[in-house]
Amino acid sequence: QGDLDEGIDYMFKMVMIGDSGVGKSQLLNRFVKNEFNMKSKATIGVEFLTKTVVMDHKVVKAQIWDTAGQERYQAITTAYYRGATGALLAYDITNRRSFEHVGKWLEELRIHADKNIIIMLVGNKSDLSSIREVPTEVAKDFAQQEDLFFIEASALDSKNVESAFIGLLSQVYNNVS
Ligand code: GDP
Ligand code: MG
Repeated sequence: QGDLDEGIDYMFKMVMIGDSGVGKSQLLNRFVKNEFNMKSKATIGVEFLTKTVVMDHKVVKAQIWDTAGQERYQAITTAYYRGATGALLAYDITNRRSFEHVGKWLEELRIHADKNIIIMLVGNKSDLSSIREVPTEVAKDFAQQEDLFFIEASALDSKNVESAFIGLLSQVYNNVS
């Protein structure tokens, strides 16, 4: 890659999935750049962003893939999932349908991703709890049944964004180290 990957102990590929509009790109933006763009474009123009963190005295580089809106047409290719060790599966707590589609996304992962992939279910837009359509307990129970990690977060006010990504990353790390 011609990149300065010296000093990196581990590199993990992670993928962002979930319905269009749930806030995947903004979550990634918040985590990597600590930014939220009011005028969010569906495409951020790159295939992935990277963030390097120190974990357990090891330098861990996360390469996190985002879609350019292909999820709208169910056109995410196998290449997107290839080699991914973690998935951040997002829904919008104010959009019941986006939660009902989580099962469809899990099926996508079963078909295309490694069977040991670690999944963090993220209920995004927790800042909009006044118009919530998905109760926390319902999502939590679902996650438990399906063996997923779970957290509610907000890319807008930053709440739990770090915990969601770092939580996923540390589970991936635990799995390989
Ligand atoms: P994606 O299609 O899943 O990548 O979704 P985007 O990141 O493009 O976000 C879709 C829309 O939801 C945009 O209008 C964002 O500004 C908005 N959005 C994303 N995250 C949040 C959040 O945490 N809170 C609120 N209130 N809006 C958000
Ligand atoms: Mg997006």
